[in-house]
Amino acid sequence: MAPKARKIDDTRLMLRDSGLRATPARIAVLNLLAAASQPSTHQEISERLESRGIDKSTVFRALNDLTEVGLARRMELGDHVWRYEPTRVTANDDDSQQPHPHLLCIDCGTITCLSDRDVTLRVAKSVGVIEDILLKGYCPHCAAKKE
Ligand SMILES: [Zn+2]
Ligand SMILES: [Zn+2]
Repeated sequence: MAPKARKIDDTRLMLRDSGLRATPARIAVLNLLAAASQPSTHQEISERLESRGIDKSTVFRALNDLTEVGLARRMELGDHVWRYEPTRVTANDDDSQQPHPHLLCIDCGTITCLSDRDVTLRVAKSVGVIEDILLKGYCPHCAAKKE
């Protein structure tokens, strides 16, 4: 078993299924998004890929392409910085990354993805269509410091 190789194949497959050519930059960006435990900024991704010869504007284009075909989701969580997260973790996995609320820690700035187990919200249809739900507060680490 070679999980790493399989993962790249999986990423290639996802890109091809979405009609995108599987370029090294798109593969690298999508893999980074999938490996991250929280939404990533363009800056964070660029910093990680610089050493692999992928420049900022290439990363930016890759993020736009991935967002356009629905492999990534783009969000603005109140600090005027776009963050990106994958909509699917693997090619066969359709619902692990449904849109979900996020918690922004107002102390350290950490963003946590929340699941149905963490918070449930019921939104009436008459409200309209919700794109992002942002909760502000303290992450467990900062909450512990405050006590
Ligand atoms: Zn915090
Ligand atoms: Zn998230």
